[in-house]
Amino acid sequence: MSDARAVHPPSVHNAAPCQAATTCPYCGVGCGVSATLEQGRITAVAGDTTHPANQGRLCVKGSALHETLEHSGRLLHPRVDGAITSWDDALDQVAARLSATRSTHGNHAVAAYLSGQLLTEDYYVANKLFKGFLGTPHVDTNSRLCMASAVAAYKRAFGADAVPCCYDDLEEAELVVLVGSNLAWNHPVLYQRLKTARSRNPLMRIVVIDPRVTDSCDIADLYLGIAPGSDARLFNGLLAFMHRTGRMDQIYLDRHAEGLEEALAAACEADVTLDAIAADCDIDPERLETFYYWFTSQLHVVTLYSQGINQSSSGTDKCQAIINCHLAGGRIGLPGAGPFSITGQPNAMGGREVGGLANQLAAHMDYHTPQALERVTRFWQTGTLVPTLPDGPGLKAVALFEAIERGEVQAVWIMATNPVVSLPDADRVKRILAACPLVIVSDCMANAEVLDVADIILPATGWSEKDGTVTNSERCISRQRGLTEPPGEARHDWWIMTEVARRLGFAQAFDYDHPATIFAEHARLSGLDNDPDAAGWRVFDISGLASLTRDEYDALAPIQWPVNARAPAGTARLFTDGHFPTPSGRARLMPVRPCGPQQALNATYALRLNTGRVRDQWHTMTRTARSARLMNHRAEPFVDLHPQDAEAHGIKDRQLVELTGICGRFRGRARIARAQRRGEVFVPMHWNEAFSGRARANALLAPYVDPISGQPESKHGAVNVRPLTHGREATLMVTTELAEDLQPVRDCAYWARIPMCHAVRWQLAEDSDMAERDWLAWIEDTLPGPLSQWSVDDARGRLRASSLQDGRLNWWLMVGPPDTLPSPLWLDALFGEASSEGISMAVRRRILAGHDSDARDDGPIICSCHQVGQYAIQAAIRDGDHSVEALGARLACGTQCGSCQPELKALLEEERDHVRL
Ligand code: SF4
Repeated sequence: MSDARAVHPPSVHNAAPCQAATTCPYCGVGCGVSATLEQGRITAVAGDTTHPANQGRLCVKGSALHETLEHSGRLLHPRVDGAITSWDDALDQVAARLSATRSTHGNHAVAAYLSGQLLTEDYYVANKLFKGFLGTPHVDTNSRLCMASAVAAYKRAFGADAVPCCYDDLEEAELVVLVGSNLAWNHPVLYQRLKTARSRNPLMRIVVIDPRVTDSCDIADLYLGIAPGSDARLFNGLLAFMHRTGRMDQIYLDRHAEGLEEALAAACEADVTLDAIAADCDIDPERLETFYYWFTSQLHVVTLYSQGINQSSSGTDKCQAIINCHLAGGRIGLPGAGPFSITGQPNAMGGREVGGLANQLAAHMDYHTPQALERVTRFWQTGTLVPTLPDGPGLKAVALFEAIERGEVQAVWIMATNPVVSLPDADRVKRILAACPLVIVSDCMANAEVLDVADIILPATGWSEKDGTVTNSERCISRQRGLTEPPGEARHDWWIMTEVARRLGFAQAFDYDHPATIFAEHARLSGLDNDPDAAGWRVFDISGLASLTRDEYDALAPIQWPVNARAPAGTARLFTDGHFPTPSGRARLMPVRPCGPQQALNATYALRLNTGRVRDQWHTMTRTARSARLMNHRAEPFVDLHPQDAEAHGIKDRQLVELTGICGRFRGRARIARAQRRGEVFVPMHWNEAFSGRARANALLAPYVDPISGQPESKHGAVNVRPLTHGREATLMVTTELAEDLQPVRDCAYWARIPMCHAVRWQLAEDSDMAERDWLAWIEDTLPGPLSQWSVDDARGRLRASSLQDGRLNWWLMVGPPDTLPSPLWLDALFGEASSEGISMAVRRRILAGHDSDARDDGPIICSCHQVGQYAIQAAIRDGDHSVEALGARLACGTQCGSCQPELKALLEEERDHVRL
């Protein structure tokens, strides 16, 4: 068995500190990272000043990357049926069980569910193995949840899944429209670039279209707080307005587009007066007219959209409605112009390039693309073996899991993703996988819930160990480099699949010894029979990179595809000549008939549910929760509510609440937010059972999908809210080492686990159905170390207790409402202190009292870079700091990555309102 583990550039073995360039593994901006390596460890990171995406910037998540690389909590060894085993045995078992499934139930009974976290080389091998050699079309990816609607619309309109814009366009535009995108939180470095561009160009305008007032509104010249799901109506109205006011680009339409009449007719089926559109979108008609006027009076317009558009049962049409307006106005293929879909994941684009979606074949060819099946068969030489390529598309994510439930799919290999958290109707997905005869999971983390239902677990490498390429939202391919040794027996995904392929008899077709070999094959396939002057040409073409030597691959600088003989240095912007890869060579406007969410509101579930990200967390928190400073921004799962909704439901700020939907429930802490529209609630998508008891947002969502793209309707749930009935609340903090094996009080009505620097904090709430807990007895039974001191206030049902041992604090418990909690940061710091002389009586008293006269509680962290809390900022504002700059000068908040500046402004506004009142 060959052993291809991490692949390192030579410099990383040096003992002296050195710098290495790699790419951030989080969002679709794809920032370049300069990592400092010391003795095989990454000790610091900074923005890569030479990377075109970020030009030296990093957001708070990226700048905490080195804090997330501890080996604790990693998967270290292969497991089969719960028992640790050797790689040889695990790989033999995977091969044997997949073969048995195919023999008994047919090729289509096996499936792969992949991830935008995989590198392009991993994706390529997975696609080739499953489609080409296992003969199943059922290969889909969690990118289905993120940007499938944008892909479907691009393909429909342009004939290719090709993002026409680049990041420079955001800086060159005169008008930037952010729709369904909280860029400030979800793509923070792009937001910073846009903000800087606006400050340099006083003529630039920014419009934000979003049901919520998000931090992105901080730079908006115009905000349209539209009703959820009314986006297509808004853009159809714009198309009609362009027609009515003679603002279409007839020359562009005549030369480069088709379908205007049908698209316009569909838009005009509804009343297209401004008042009618404004009423349907629930916005002010004058603001609507201003937006329409601005869009039609500027040539250099970028409309940037993300999950707020895509995650809808009519997401493809919403994207198309935007594209229609850009085509009708000729606002595409120019600097500073175009419909720009920004992806959520670091390599969603790379997965699309290799064909990692169920409806794709390979290298931007679909099953119905003329000659594609023959071409791919020839290239992979899969036709000479049995079986051959499937001849039609496979099942998209939600449908795939339904097929597993029906028993049509009997074996699924899940790589680098956690569908029991991220798919809609998540509880059902967990039940489906638990009943599936064969579940193989490759992952790097040991706390992913999907492992609970896995038969075979394969430890994979993670960021800083993996070696390959990723493609960001502007088609830029960057190297993610293997810089550190993987822990335990973790292996690269491509290597794992290659070893399985060899065991299945496909050794010749999977003779890879390095990701460079895989990349070269991928690049060759992209250029196969791909002549830009011939019919059926494909935009995705990186044949110019097919003959890179291994050293050239290792040193590959970021480059935007297409990269071929015509564009050896890459291509910043597409369709500049108005030529599209459609049969007619023209772009297509399509009729769009707006329709509302499938998840209807009713008397029981009367609130519209919106789900999304928070600034400092990534996906299911397996990595970002390892950085204590990232946990301090939003420490617990929460529910944002409009003040009037809160009042109507008898809910106070910071009270524990429960949301119920037809599929499940969600528990979290209420945040009264004026940024919410009335009748709508927002919950974060990150929390899972590793961090809280019932806080999986996707458990609330019914599995409605867009009929074209298959993307779930994750922004439009239907829920009810009520105060959570519970007993007393408690806070428990336990030193990190002792917390590893501790599972405190999982029978509570509510629990949230919050990793800190030196301790792990649990927020708990007793179940009201159970007898009031005897906390002292519970301490005896559950917590490690001696009960050193305690104080009880029976009248108020309060208790404080702590354990001190060998001059250190073991744990600290407070039973009582959380608003009496002392500064968690002060307590956490105490856990980090050790004294051979023991803890002094004075400190013991303060620990027991839960109070230090010298320690301030700075409140929830607003600035994660400098750990500046809300209360400290509010105190500074009251003390005369009335600008972001003044706050930065005093407290340093907002002076590093800048992600918190909108929140600083919001606090300034709040304090101003407070004074006015
Ligand atoms: S903006 Fe995205 S890619 Fe850049 S550092 Fe932040 S999370 Fe990473």
